[in-house]
Amino acid sequence: MRTGSNLPAVGTYNQTLVLDLIRRAPEGLSRVELATQTGLSAQTLSNVTRRLTEDGLIAEGGKVISGPGKPRTLLRLRPHARFAIGVHLDPAVDAIVVVDMAGAVVAHAEHPPGRSRDAGRLIASMGDAVLDIIDRSGIDRTRILGVGVAAPGPIDAGAGRLIDPPLLPAWHGVALRDDLAKTIGLPVVLEKDVTAAAVGELWLDRGYDVGDAIFLYYGAGIGVGIAIGSVPVRGVTANAGDIAHLNVDPEGPRCECGMAGCLGTTLEPDTLLREAGVRTGPPDPDALPIDPRPELDILRGLAEDGDERALAVIETTARRLARGLVQLDNMLDVGVVVVGGPVWARLSQVLREPLRRCLVSDTAVRTLHPLRLRDSRLGADAAAVGAACLLLDGAFTARPSDLLITQ
Ligand SMILES: [Zn+2]
Repeated sequence: MRTGSNLPAVGTYNQTLVLDLIRRAPEGLSRVELATQTGLSAQTLSNVTRRLTEDGLIAEGGKVISGPGKPRTLLRLRPHARFAIGVHLDPAVDAIVVVDMAGAVVAHAEHPPGRSRDAGRLIASMGDAVLDIIDRSGIDRTRILGVGVAAPGPIDAGAGRLIDPPLLPAWHGVALRDDLAKTIGLPVVLEKDVTAAAVGELWLDRGYDVGDAIFLYYGAGIGVGIAIGSVPVRGVTANAGDIAHLNVDPEGPRCECGMAGCLGTTLEPDTLLREAGVRTGPPDPDALPIDPRPELDILRGLAEDGDERALAVIETTARRLARGLVQLDNMLDVGVVVVGGPVWARLSQVLREPLRRCLVSDTAVRTLHPLRLRDSRLGADAAAVGAACLLLDGAFTARPSDLLITQ
């Protein structure tokens, strides 16, 4: 358990710690419970909760009777005290969401990805989309913490710049973070999409169930976010989690790296749709990426109807996916995999059980526990919601490392 400090210099840490506990308790917490959980003195706790109340972040809720003495007043999060905006830059469709402090999506929009070759125009149209969703949601701008952008890696995290995101040639080398911040007048953070999704899952993790976990993001691209001890693993350049070239099937299609059966190539939507006969005709390497969701719905429908070829594709996909995840878990020993993203949202009904079975039966399993499978709490917009949670996490998650900096 994380405990607070009674030193005056760490007021901000204590505030974030207390807020963190209150927001993870759906019914709220009494001051007595907070004192037990944080180790803070009654006086310090009283000061902290008064400041949080003055900032509008918490309010007194109902009363609870437990044992003798007067009923205890519960303190609850005011989820609409602050909001954050999340944008997911994706080859098929850009998603944009407004999220409240409880992580709930209060507004959602989708836009076709910008095709302009002019970086200024791309930034301007993304800025318009952000300002438009703020207008439509009717939220006071002063309550918006900022904008998180989730993008396919690799990213130059220090400069807030995209490098060469696959299938997004127009965005190569664009200094997205600073240029977008200038355009809209709000703080902007840039994160790799899979890490953003992991941050979102941690934000919504009330029971600390996924503090040690692999977060598989299954969309136009496929990658993982990793959390160890409830902290996202970013790596030295914030580009951790690229599993595209893990070998998962020696019989699989050839990858651009020269090997056969790399995870990224064998599991991309185009491979599944072609193996199932849903997408036909020769692949056109110069074609613009198309939104695969309608075709994935057809694939799922065929599998649900018992179509043998579709069922075989689903089985192969489950086996390939499990092989990759088991190798990761053998290395990290986390025991939980959380799966989300738009492709998973489309196929989970037919893919979940085969995957669950393959995770246990894969012959490469070396850990002492079976790898548990969970669905993402973030839904199909995992990366966009996660991007918004970057702002919430940055402002309101108590980490002992912050304490070291402030002392
Ligand atoms: Zn490869």
